[in-house]
Amino acid sequence: MSELRELYQSVILDHNKRPRNFHEPEGANRSADGFNPLCGDKITVYLELEDDVVKDVGFSGSGCAISTASASLMTQSIKGKSVDDVRQLFDGFHELVVGDSGEAADLEKLGKLAVFSGVREFPVRVKCATLAWHTMKSALEGTGEVAKTE
Ligand code: ZN
Repeated sequence: MSELRELYQSVILDHNKRPRNFHEPEGANRSADGFNPLCGDKITVYLELEDDVVKDVGFSGSGCAISTASASLMTQSIKGKSVDDVRQLFDGFHELVVGDSGEAADLEKLGKLAVFSGVREFPVRVKCATLAWHTMKSALEGTGEVAKTE
């Protein structure tokens, strides 16, 4: 087993067991629901946006270990970031797990999120890993639509 793969498993186990920011922040002013019909993952992402900065973020819902861990790590990585930075992270994460543009993902920028590169090996799991991100984006855009992974 490669080092990254071991790291991937331990990070996912840890974040699934103890999800970070697993609550609705008091000052939340945006939210969106997401659903991954393939796996049954359901999630709601809450954002507190102020002056184009994600002041606070949280999530609720239930899903598989990967969807929960991905949501947990996502909240950690976008908290305190500007909306522009969050959009860049979204693109970077998407590239990492889907990798359809042919460009190498910027692992340094993604930090801990890099462990999800292991998801690429399991195409069915990609939708679990990206659900929280799509839901967060739809909360960010304020479209009020239910984010779907399809
Ligand atoms: Zn799932």
